Amino acid sequence: MKEKISQEIIVNHLKNYGFVFQNSEIYGGLANAWDFGPLGAIIKNLLKNIWINYFVTSTKNMFLIDTNIILNSSVWDASGHINNFSDPLIDCKKCKNRFRADKLIGEFTNEKITEQTDISILEKIINNNKIKCPNCKNIDWTNIRKFNLMFETSIGVVDNNKNIVYLRPETAQGIFINFKNIQRTTRAKIPFGVAQIGKSFRNEITPSNFIFRTREFEQMEIEHFVEESQENMFFDYYINKIQKFLFDVLKLKKENISIENYSKDEIAHYSKKTIDFFYDFPHGKSELWGLANRGSYDLMQHESFSKKDMHYLDSNNNKFIPSVIEPSVGLERLLYAILIDAYDEEQVNNETRVVMRLDEKLAPYKIAVLPLTNKLEDFASKIYQSILNKGVSCTYDTSGSIGKRYRRQDAIGTPYCLTVDFDSQKDMSVTIRNRDSMEQVRVNIKDINLLNLSKLFK
Ligand code: ATP
Repeated sequence: MKEKISQEIIVNHLKNYGFVFQNSEIYGGLANAWDFGPLGAIIKNLLKNIWINYFVTSTKNMFLIDTNIILNSSVWDASGHINNFSDPLIDCKKCKNRFRADKLIGEFTNEKITEQTDISILEKIINNNKIKCPNCKNIDWTNIRKFNLMFETSIGVVDNNKNIVYLRPETAQGIFINFKNIQRTTRAKIPFGVAQIGKSFRNEITPSNFIFRTREFEQMEIEHFVEESQENMFFDYYINKIQKFLFDVLKLKKENISIENYSKDEIAHYSKKTIDFFYDFPHGKSELWGLANRGSYDLMQHESFSKKDMHYLDSNNNKFIPSVIEPSVGLERLLYAILIDAYDEEQVNNETRVVMRLDEKLAPYKIAVLPLTNKLEDFASKIYQSILNKGVSCTYDTSGSIGKRYRRQDAIGTPYCLTVDFDSQKDMSVTIRNRDSMEQVRVNIKDINLLNLSKLFK
């Protein structure tokens, strides 16, 4: 089996080729914040569309909505985020570094702690184990306090308490507060699901590990409204559906994915049951995708805070508050897993070839047109334009030796290269090269089916 790649290698690769840039780089950067470059932005959008096609447009009783980032603050009161959405913060008095107490304990001891473990117990564990500051190695800690992860801002010109609003820390609440609107306008019958993709914000104490944990990220979430008696069935349905998506659609390697089960006292305040799909990231196995049974918690809370009826009336005149099954994944986290999975190095003629073995549907460019020399540019650029006219994502490169250009396309995951040579204009044929096998075939231009180039190599 191949050695796991380091975070440094993958990050440098993605920065060098324009998948990702350090945010605000010309001003010295903003710590742990990243921008997506020309390749990253395309692949991110491809991934969103693949997710929408799989979970929404090709599945019955599924709807997509798009709600605001800023909501009425009562939403967060009702959801419990104002009181509960916090991490235990501890500071080193000597070097002033800040840490998440639960992560610190996890890193240096085998003590079992959960989301609900009391702050006084966390302090005791840190003292008893004489945990040192990972930065300056001193033991001089502040008390632990709860640090709310929601970003606060204010609306309007008067800066008083009434105008405080929050950047949403999850997209889910936008769905819950629209439950009645969606049900009324779609006339959907339970069970039905509502999906949303959008930015979420969390003032994480320790954002880290590249795009794995950042303060601004996108979530792809589904809230599936079901009867209480259907909770387990739909929970299992999503375990299956997510697995199929990861393995059959995205083609992630099975050995990198595992499932983590949690006991009742390890899960969030709103959840009846949670499992996580873990991915084996360069920094270790960690959460990729969460699946939670939120029960009727959220709709009941909104009914009680808004005083609006959140009940559903079924065809037998039974009135009830539906339960909710929620699969929730971070877009950048999933993209990171895909990029890690795709990255490969192999020895070819005593040199290292770096290949992004991206599945064709996720490749930013499906094909690259490469004229062998500049003299062939006129003919080659016509081919390039005709491919673009067909709506196929294509790139064009004339600079450097053909070998170097192949390597560049390998490194950004382009599945096929189309090389125009001196005979091309005479016999109307070009060479198509396969990224993974490096096999080359010569074909007549009129026989090229851009939507099924893999067929040429069977
Ligand atoms: P973690 O334990 O890693 O903080 P979480 O359990 O708080 O995650 P959820 O609230 O379940 O995360 O969010 C659902 C998904 O959103 C996660 O599985 C992850 O893919 C993504 N996500 C959450 N926080 C972040 C973040 N700070 N940066 C990037 N993605 C995130």
